[in-house]
Amino acid sequence: MAGNPKAPLVGVLALQGDVREHAALLTGLGAEVRLVRRPEELAAVDGLVIPGGESSVIDKLSRMFGMQEPIRAAIAAGMPMLGTCAGLIMLADRLVDAIDGQESFGGLDVTVRRNAFGRQVESFEADLDVPAIGAAPVKVAFIRGPVVEAVGPGAEVLAALPDGRVVAVEQGNLLGLSFHPEITGESRFHERFLDRVASRS
Ligand code: GLN
Repeated sequence: MAGNPKAPLVGVLALQGDVREHAALLTGLGAEVRLVRRPEELAAVDGLVIPGGESSVIDKLSRMFGMQEPIRAAIAAGMPMLGTCAGLIMLADRLVDAIDGQESFGGLDVTVRRNAFGRQVESFEADLDVPAIGAAPVKVAFIRGPVVEAVGPGAEVLAALPDGRVVAVEQGNLLGLSFHPEITGESRFHERFLDRVASRS
């Protein structure tokens, strides 16, 4: 869709993780997608997806590439962002079971526990009700995903598992998911993200 002046221009943080899956899904939805590794690349887009992967690595690389402060500033300025799995960890204000010295960008008033689903069930798929994005259940994949253990007054719960564990949250223009819609082909969260981008730019 490059060249379409109406296409939302969004970035995928491309330091580590499942960057391609997000880029393909967003392109399929009509967005113009750039891979973002440097501050000037971030400055050129109107929204950012933070992919799944390994949050401690994304954290380290983001500091090495001088991206931590620019991303924090973009969050503070209201840039729409979607974080999946490790991306949710990066958007959380507080972390449990992080590695020593691990930092997040913050922005979501939540406490997130890494690798919350443990070894017993490392990966699984589930059908999830997410009323905010429509009546049809969401098919989701959890891959050593985090769980939202505490939700502060600033953040809103979008979805929880039947046992009550919170797996999707939103705060202003930030959307954080424990699972990987980009892997199961679920596009409604990305559409919601692109709507935010379109209404802001
Ligand atoms: N366990 C990973 C982490 O701590 C997240 C897993 C994922 O993004 N699939 O960053």
